[in-house]
Parts: sequence; structure tokens; C-alpha cells
Amino acid sequence: MGKKERQCQPCTACCDGWVQMVINGVDVYPGHPCPHSTGSGCDDYENRPEDPCHFFQCGWIIENSPLPEWMQPENAKVIVLFNKFQWRNLPVDLAVPVGKRIPPRALDWMKQFSRENGRPFVYTEQIKEKGIYQKEQQVYGFGPQEFQKELLDRQQAGERLW
Ligand code: SF4
Ligand code: SF4
Repeated sequence: MGKKERQCQPCTACCDGWVQMVINGVDVYPGHPCPHSTGSGCDDYENRPEDPCHFFQCGWIIENSPLPEWMQPENAKVIVLFNKFQWRNLPVDLAVPVGKRIPPRALDWMKQFSRENGRPFVYTEQIKEKGIYQKEQQVYGFGPQEFQKELLDRQQAGERLW
């Protein structure tokens, strides 16, 4: 559990488009960082929008985060968002890669955490076409078979998952 308060900097993974969002009308997505991201911070931090910047807290920065120190997003190449949605009254976590895909060490940690805590999770992989990241992502589920099947069915039906 987090013993000391963690600091974002020098991480800017969420500002760099690995979490898709809209900042002051500008679409931010993989390959399209927020125009205010310097790569090591925000050049207009005082004026950053309430939503999402003030509210956004990745799973590594939150108080009492269960994520170990090495899972800092820029380091582990993954952003974890806890309790993104519910499935049959279970919290479902979301893990998105900082890069094309989540490296094996971080994904293995998530799987272990999921087994130990009985929390299914969803993880994504970025799709690249002709070397360019797309907005669409490949989505995978980890957890009970019924969970994975439902996820697949919902994806095939073109439903939003969260
Ligand atoms: S991904 Fe997490 S640690 Fe990194 S800048 Fe965003 S909130 Fe901070
Ligand atoms: S405005 Fe600043 S804090 Fe918000 S996404 Fe952009 S760089 Fe990050």
C-alpha cells in the first residue's frame, strides 16, 4: 500500500494521449498528446481544465494505491484505472498500455492481483495502421469465462464497454 504521497512528475502518460480525452476541445489520443504536455509536465498547470485534469487520478497516484512503486505508468508502461465499471456486482479494473501493448511484467502483475482479489479486468492494446496509432483499441478481458464471453458479445454488438 502507498506509504508516502506519490508525485506524477516526471510522468505525463495520461497527458500524452494514452488515455483518450478531450482537452479544451482538442482530441487527445495515442500519438496526439495534449498540446500542454511538455513530456515531463504541464505548461499550463494552473489553468488546466477541471474535467478531466483535476479529476483524473490513475490507479498508481491514488491514496493507498495497491500498485507497487515500479508500476508508475511511465516506468511500467501501463495506466491502471480501478473500478471502471461493474460486472455482476464485481468491480472491473481497466489497464491501458503506455505504448502499443502492456509489457508482460505489468500484465502478469495485474493477472495475479485479479486472481487474488477476485476482480476481473479489461486491458487494451493500441492498433497501429501504417505506423500510425488509431483511436480504436483491441480489448481483452481477464477473469471468469462468462465475463470474457459477455465482453466479446458486447464488443461484437458494437456496445460501449465503459
Ligand atoms: S498517468 Fe498517473 S502518474 Fe502519470 S501523469 Fe497521469 S495521473 Fe500522474
Ligand atoms: S492540460 Fe495539462 S494536466 Fe491537462 S492533459 Fe494537458 S498537459 Fe495534462
